[in-house]
Amino acid sequence: MSDIYPKALESCRLCPRLATYREKVATEKRRAYKDESYWGKPVPGFGDLNARILILGLAPGAHGSNRTGRMFTGDASGDFLYPALHRAGLANQSLSRHKEDGLELHDVWITAAARCVPPDNKPTPKEVVTCRQWLEHDFENLKNLKLVLALGKIAHDAYLDLLKARGLLVIKSHYPFQHGKLHTFDKALPMLDAYHVSFQNTNTGKLTPSMFDEVLERAKILCRA
Ligand code: SF4
Repeated sequence: MSDIYPKALESCRLCPRLATYREKVATEKRRAYKDESYWGKPVPGFGDLNARILILGLAPGAHGSNRTGRMFTGDASGDFLYPALHRAGLANQSLSRHKEDGLELHDVWITAAARCVPPDNKPTPKEVVTCRQWLEHDFENLKNLKLVLALGKIAHDAYLDLLKARGLLVIKSHYPFQHGKLHTFDKALPMLDAYHVSFQNTNTGKLTPSMFDEVLERAKILCRA
């Protein structure tokens, strides 16, 4: 594990709506966590600095990573994602409760399209564009990446927009989001799509553990190619 981000990330307020909201949630708290101190700041990515797989999520959960300060930690999304990573041999444990719980990732880095919790789990397109600078930071610092695993359409679009901004993609609509679909590009890392691991998807059966296991196995094979 290693922190690749400058101190400026923790105090970033480039999206005023999100900066206000993350702090409001951290002050008001959920009753079950009223005795805890919430993180309430932008959440950095984390994982293996030598990762070949970059998992790109949407944004922190209000009482998950906005509380714990670590991606997908402390909520239902993490309760689905980390056991899957553990089954795939990409994490040393399935437990993910807080930053000091001993979790280590192997060959995976987890980051997000927006690093501050948005109201209703929806960052605006402008906020995702504004937060792209931190996603660029991930790509600049992780030298062994071979694949982007996009969780959901917002993450999928965020990666396509990043490629467009770099002049590596012309027509976004040629790459529609589809669970299990691999998108390849001439001069950029390929992207594998998966439904987001949100409670809304996993609780309804839209995304099952076996569906996600298949995606992770495919990701591992693609990285070896
Ligand atoms: Fe900064 Fe990203 Fe948070 Fe916007 S979402 S305030 S750019 S860290």
